[in-house]
Amino acid sequence: MVDKGKADPAFDAHMMPIGEWALACWENWATEVSMEAIVKAALAMVAKGKNRWAKVYGPGAALVMTCIRIEWQVVSARHLVTHEGEMLDLKLDPPAVVLLKVADAVRRWRWKKIENICPQLAVNGSGRGAVMEPLWQLLGTKVADKDWNERHKAGLRSAAAGRQFTQSRVKLCGWAVHDRCLVCLNNIIEKESPYEGEKRRTIRDTVVATDDQLRRAPVGDLSHRIWNGDCLKDLRTKKAQADDVRIARTCEVRGHPAWERGLAVRPPLPKRKQSKVETFNWHIKPASLPVLGDVYPDGSFLDGISVELGRGGWAFAVVDGDGVVVAAAYGVPPPWIQGIEGAEAWALFQSL
Ligand SMILES: [Zn+2]
Repeated sequence: MVDKGKADPAFDAHMMPIGEWALACWENWATEVSMEAIVKAALAMVAKGKNRWAKVYGPGAALVMTCIRIEWQVVSARHLVTHEGEMLDLKLDPPAVVLLKVADAVRRWRWKKIENICPQLAVNGSGRGAVMEPLWQLLGTKVADKDWNERHKAGLRSAAAGRQFTQSRVKLCGWAVHDRCLVCLNNIIEKESPYEGEKRRTIRDTVVATDDQLRRAPVGDLSHRIWNGDCLKDLRTKKAQADDVRIARTCEVRGHPAWERGLAVRPPLPKRKQSKVETFNWHIKPASLPVLGDVYPDGSFLDGISVELGRGGWAFAVVDGDGVVVAAAYGVPPPWIQGIEGAEAWALFQSL
């Protein structure tokens, strides 16, 4: 879960076939006619096969199968329609742009698989996933002190990825006969049937619980471990937010990815979307062009921590030798600019 989630081999597995094909188109490795023939043959091959992946060979088939999996449509050798319905022309859209779209599609495909386990994550739109940005920030920070260091990062990675093996999960896997919290069960046994003998009980001595003790011990699942169990109460009192502890006591948090894995549902998309085209508006239109004077360009991109909220803008003003603003304009940078440096550069470009 490092590198903003791109460490998963799923990214390479999808990006390579589509990326290679995009590069081949872009750099004219083969004639359009022959690439078209390869894609046609692949589409026919894939349509026939039952066990389709077993039949996949050659770059055409790899392209077609990979596209099917991320819900893209292969219209022709150079035209692909993305999961968002956007038409990509591999002769006009550079491979780097295509790869960005593939990465986005793979991210969505992975989240859809996770939604099978945590359906709550899909309430504001399927495939959008959880609010991962704060987690990436925490995992990426270089700070290391007693409250946040590599051990904590490893713990967060494990919790978010659902790799915690609680007793209830151990039982589900068939590796144990009961699903009760071992610490709580042990405490019950220690209290009711202390070790008879001179020395203390050690890990070598078998501990046998009665059926009644098993019944009274709480189920050892994530919500028990994190929010309700007595076994980690001290740690919880010290580290957890008092409000959260109170809510977890009164509401059902069991099975909720936000409470058990730190995966909070993404808020709905903003009503007003990012502009799909760049714009140019005069604020002070000069009497004639070109204008002479000192140019002051500026660009800005505000996105907080989540990309879908990102909004960019640019402006410039031209001031003549007498200190009078003789021209000023503003607008929105094109959609492929997703950062403040790009918006600044676009402002400079517009002023030229
Ligand atoms: Zn417990």
